[in-house]
Amino acid sequence: MKYDYLIVGAGLFGSVFAYEANKRGKYCLVIDKRSHIGGNIYCESVDGINVHKYGAHIFHTSNKAVWQYINQFAEFNNYINSPVAIYKDELYNLPFNMNTFIKMWGIKTPAQAKAKIKEQIRELNIVEPSNLEEQALSLVGRDVYEKLVKGYTEKQWGRSCTKLPSFIIKRLPLRFTYDNNYFNDRYQGIPMGGYTPIIEKMLSGIEVRLNTDYFDYIKSEKDCAKKTVFTGMIDAFFGYNLGYLEYRSLRFEHERLDCDNYQGNAVVNYTEREVPYTRIIEHKHFEFGKQPSTVISKEYPSEWKPGDEPYYPVNDEKNNGLYDRYAKLAESQSDVIFGGRLGSYRYYDMDKVIDAALKAVALEFGN
Ligand code: FAD
Repeated sequence: MKYDYLIVGAGLFGSVFAYEANKRGKYCLVIDKRSHIGGNIYCESVDGINVHKYGAHIFHTSNKAVWQYINQFAEFNNYINSPVAIYKDELYNLPFNMNTFIKMWGIKTPAQAKAKIKEQIRELNIVEPSNLEEQALSLVGRDVYEKLVKGYTEKQWGRSCTKLPSFIIKRLPLRFTYDNNYFNDRYQGIPMGGYTPIIEKMLSGIEVRLNTDYFDYIKSEKDCAKKTVFTGMIDAFFGYNLGYLEYRSLRFEHERLDCDNYQGNAVVNYTEREVPYTRIIEHKHFEFGKQPSTVISKEYPSEWKPGDEPYYPVNDEKNNGLYDRYAKLAESQSDVIFGGRLGSYRYYDMDKVIDAALKAVALEFGN
């Protein structure tokens, strides 16, 4: 056999595994069906602006070991994610905090904000929420729900909040301080130069073949490696023979504009139902760019059908049950390691993917 490992997917999981295996003297081939490395964290430079082609990616973690690990491949800047929301002609800070409440109700103190929310929740008198709308209302009250949650969530899921199950929203964090930092994590930032150079460093010295689909490749190269690391869709690996796992998809409209500052912030959410996109990303602000032009991306959620780009797994009871059955099948494949967001059918932030890949490495190599 030519290779020790055939690694399917040049995303973060596949690249961390390849880097670690290569470091241990293993001979790897990385293939990806896309025309570029990086998977969903791929960035493309336009006028010197690193465009996050598959949606805004902000690195945040409380895992010190993962933070130290990723810092060997890049220097991170001090970007703090502080999105704003536009509802009709009103603009609010996110996440829901004192800046949001002062704008919404003109109140000044945390006690006043708490009392307002409590009063709205009490008036609704929802004992046991039977759908997502009731769940959200019983967590944040009518005003925050109507202006900042309802339309956005309905666009994300493509259906009315009254038709969505309550478990989708377990909690809606309310912060009674003037703090617009979206994340609570200890470490946060954007790699200076974007994410692609991180993957380039990880894959340096390793054979990579792009535009190569695993299912075509193995037709002639079935026995090319002792083991396979598979980060594509687990149901596809098994020929969908138990059925299709479902996803929500996204469509991005990227636009280069001849102005230096379109919206003054990297992330602006559009929370009313009537605006068809959920958010506009202005990429230069991730790296405090001073270029004379700018690039924006509008993000449109969409239904997923087989063949579309899968973005968010729909982790409801039906799909989780189906995934468990595929995971059982996977256990019988002793020469295949399944990993990453598609191989594990779960939403993973980047830090969790790195952690999972390093755990797979430890299991495989014992160190
Ligand atoms: P991927 O990046 O999807 O890599 C898998 C690769 O496998 C792909 O390149 C694919 O082309 C390839 N592949 C699949 N099937 C085959 C096949 N049959 N043959 C060959 N190649 C194949 N995380 C954060 O921490 N912060 C964020 O702000 C954040 N924002 C996000 C925004 C969006 C819109 C989305 C969808 C995700 C976001 N994430 C974020 C999560 C982040 O994208 C993932 O954690 C990470 O990209 C997962 O890496 P992966 O290697 O598992 O998967």
